Amino acid sequence: MALACAACGVAYPLQDLAWRCGGCGGVLDLTGFTATVPDPAVLKDRPPTLWRYAEALPVGDASGVSMGEGMTPLVTAPHGAPAVLKVDYLMPTGSFKDRGAVLLVALARVLGVGQMVADSSGNAGTAIAAYAARAGIACDVYVPGATSPGKVAQLRAYGATVHLVEGTREDTASAAAVAADQPGVFYASHVYNPFFLHGTKTYVFEAWEQLGGWLPEALVLPVGNGTLVLGCYLGCRELLAQGLIDRLPAIVAVQAEGCAPLARAASLGLTSPVDVASGGTIAEGIAIARPARGAQILAAVADTGGTFVTVDDDQIRAAHADLALAGLYVEPTAAVCWAALRAGLVAAVAEPGPGPRALAPLCGSGLKSKPPA
Ligand SMILES: [Zn+2]
Repeated sequence: MALACAACGVAYPLQDLAWRCGGCGGVLDLTGFTATVPDPAVLKDRPPTLWRYAEALPVGDASGVSMGEGMTPLVTAPHGAPAVLKVDYLMPTGSFKDRGAVLLVALARVLGVGQMVADSSGNAGTAIAAYAARAGIACDVYVPGATSPGKVAQLRAYGATVHLVEGTREDTASAAAVAADQPGVFYASHVYNPFFLHGTKTYVFEAWEQLGGWLPEALVLPVGNGTLVLGCYLGCRELLAQGLIDRLPAIVAVQAEGCAPLARAASLGLTSPVDVASGGTIAEGIAIARPARGAQILAAVADTGGTFVTVDDDQIRAAHADLALAGLYVEPTAAVCWAALRAGLVAAVAEPGPGPRALAPLCGSGLKSKPPA
C-alpha cells in the first residue's frame, strides 16, 4: 500500500507520513489495496462492530484501540416517510467520525508513530483525541480560539494538548499544517488522510447488511468536507465491484444554504467548488467554505447520478424539532438530511415501490451542542 497524489500521481510510502503531495499540493489517495467484503454467511457470526469487515479495511487489527464502534441501528423516519435513518450518533464519542478516527489511530499504531496532530473543534477532533488516548499516542489538537470551553475541556480530559489559535478556521488549519510537517509527526486529518474514508465507508456496508444485502435508491448525506460522501462512494464502488449490489445508489448531497460551495458549483456545471464565505449557518459541522476534496466530491456525486440540494436554517430548525419529537435528539448539522427529505428535495422518495427509498444518517448527538436558536 502507498499514498498517491490524486492530481499528479506521485506516490508516497505510508512510512513517509506525507499528508498532501509535496510537489503539487494535491490530496492523496490510497493505492495498492483491494477490499474484500466478506460473505454474509461469514459476517453473521462476527461481533457487531465495523471490524466485522476487516478484509475490506486497509488496517485489519484494532485490538486495544477499538471501542466497539459500528453497527448502529436503523430506525424508521418520522411521519411514515419511505426512508430509513441510521443512528450514527450512537458511537463511542457520539458521532459518525469514530468510523474514520479508529482507522487513523489504528494506522498510527501500525506505523509506530509517537505523536499525532489533529485540527477540529468538532466531532472529528473529539474522536481522534479519544482513540489516541486509548492507543496511548500523544495527540495535539488545534482549535479556533473561540471554541466553546466545554469542547476544550473534553479534549483535555482525553489527555490531548489543546492549542487555541486566534483567527479563522483556516488559520487553525494552517497552524496544524505547520505542526504536521515536523519529522515523525502523524497528521490525523479527517480531510486529508484517505484511511479516514475507508473507515466511513463502513456506514454503507452496515446498511447493506442490515437491509438484507441491498441499498435504497438514494443515499442522502450531509456534505461539508465530504468524508461521509466520499466514504459511501468508495464503499458502494467496492460492493458493486464484488457484485454485492447491482447499481450505485444515487448520492443526494445536502449542504446548508448559507455555506454551499459544492451545491453552487454543481448548479453551474463546474468541477471544483466555488468561492463562498465561511460560516453563515447553524449547521456548523458542514460550514466548510473550501473543501480540500471538493473536486472529488463533485465527481463522485455525478458518477452516481446524484444531485446536490441545499436547506436553509429555518428548514434545519424545523427538521431538528421534528426529529426530537420522534425521539431522535441530534445536533443541528445532523438534521440537514431530514430537512431535505421532509422538504421533498429527494426525488427517489416520491417514487412508488417497496421498502425504503432513501437512507440518511443521524450523524451527531444533540448532547454535543446547544439546541438551534
Ligand atoms: Zn501531486
